[in-house]
Amino acid sequence: MPTQYDAIIVGAGFGGIGAAIELKRLGFDNFAILDREDDLGGTWYVNHYPGLTVDVPTTTYSYFFEPNPNWDRLFSTGAEIKQYADNVADKYDVRRHIRFNTTVESARWDEEDNVWRVTVADGDTLAARYLITATGFLSQPRTPEIPGIDTFEGKIVHTAAWDDSYDATNRKIGIIGTGATAVQLIPELARDAADLTVYQRTAIYVVPKFDIKFSARAKRLFARVPLSQRIIRAVTDFVYEVLVDWGILHYSRFPLGNRAAAYLSKVWRFAVIRDKELRRKLTPDYAFGCKRPTFSNKFYRAFTRPNVYLQSSGIDHIEADGIVANDGTKSVIDTLVLATGFDLWEANFPAIEVIGRDGRNLGKWWRETRFQAYQGVSVPYFPNFLSLASPYAFLGLNFFNSMEYQMRHMDRLFGELKQRGATTFEITEEANSRYLDEMTELLGTSLFTLGNCATARSYYFNPSGEATLLRPMTTHEALREASTYPLSDYHIS
Ligand code: NAP
Repeated sequence: MPTQYDAIIVGAGFGGIGAAIELKRLGFDNFAILDREDDLGGTWYVNHYPGLTVDVPTTTYSYFFEPNPNWDRLFSTGAEIKQYADNVADKYDVRRHIRFNTTVESARWDEEDNVWRVTVADGDTLAARYLITATGFLSQPRTPEIPGIDTFEGKIVHTAAWDDSYDATNRKIGIIGTGATAVQLIPELARDAADLTVYQRTAIYVVPKFDIKFSARAKRLFARVPLSQRIIRAVTDFVYEVLVDWGILHYSRFPLGNRAAAYLSKVWRFAVIRDKELRRKLTPDYAFGCKRPTFSNKFYRAFTRPNVYLQSSGIDHIEADGIVANDGTKSVIDTLVLATGFDLWEANFPAIEVIGRDGRNLGKWWRETRFQAYQGVSVPYFPNFLSLASPYAFLGLNFFNSMEYQMRHMDRLFGELKQRGATTFEITEEANSRYLDEMTELLGTSLFTLGNCATARSYYFNPSGEATLLRPMTTHEALREASTYPLSDYHIS
């Protein structure tokens, strides 16, 4: 007989840890968290490249029920956030549920026994009544298919598999990509490298970062008077809400707010870079917010160093010892850094094969119809399944806001099951369609529909061109929906 659990959670990042804490609150203890890595923390375990910090203030980028008075800075380092994940997992006794080095391949709903059969890479099959996938959004690293990349004879490193023993001193480095990761890494490499050539395909909006170091006194205050930290959180939450609400969701009403942010980035470039041509190349040609913008006080400055070159004509091919750009220029390099991000849609929606009722394959169904999930968690024909990394799941710019409404959603749903003595739930097709219509309508007045996003190459858009990643509502609205959705939206038996 396969091991039988009440629930299986796939992924031991902040999503999986949050789901585990919620299950415990609901009285479940017989559940397993499966993770392909050998430690917890998800993206914050996997990513450890130099310069890694969070780009959302950590007062906001943390579980609402677990403020951390010990943050060193407003924008904490990756190592601090990984430590926070460890601390929370230990405090809530989550670690003993985790099976590390366990890659989940597929999950299939067994209609006869009403359980999920979950197959892992070593061929083992586990069974669970409930399946929760918390596989994250940015978890499948993308390696670009550039002609000749296989012939490169130097060192190749993807930022999501950083080699901590690598010393950039006096190296000749080429870095592909200028996303949020590269924005953090480039200044670090520029400091030590003999020369650094940055291959930019699409320019990114960068705005100044107003970081604060918390003094020992401030940390003591946060610990003794938690309200003081809550107040700071309320402020940072508010700022991020306004950015998303006005800049993206209600773009039709507040286009000026969005333009002001683009202007701030422009002023920042002007203040730092004297070379007009360089400024032009670093200037995005799409509206602010179409693609995830980022904060940095060092990125633009790095390009003013004599050892840093921006190459924006595109890559023609890669040779054994260098990169040849479309303008014919060859950079001889010994290290190729791939800051090329993650395959969000193809490899991640869903991250494992999921087969529901009547043999419905989730990945195929999403592609044959539209990317959709009721409140970013539930899909019809997939009983007892919550997909936390779904279309319309991501709220604003802060993962923890998504986690908060998802935990509330679980609370309401499992609370009802318990009350009725029921064991099975499935979202109705009617509720799912209604929700999809609502999302489509809300997106109609957003930046993604009305703004100039065509050239942004943004992962907010799925391969069909629909912006189905972000849930187009405020945190407040999503939390209210998660606590009040009609329970009749689910078949419960
Ligand atoms: P990304 O934003 O997807 O950026 C990837 C970069 O690689 C882009 O500049 C992309 O160019 C370029 N690229 C990909 N394939 C290419 C190719 N074949 N040829 C040339 N260029 C290519 O990935 P990321 O920088 O790793 O960031 C991903 C997300 O992680 C961020 O948006 C952010 O949400 C998150 N992140 C967060 C933090 C944090 O502090 N919280 C830090 C880092 C990252 P195009 O734009 O033209 O596609």
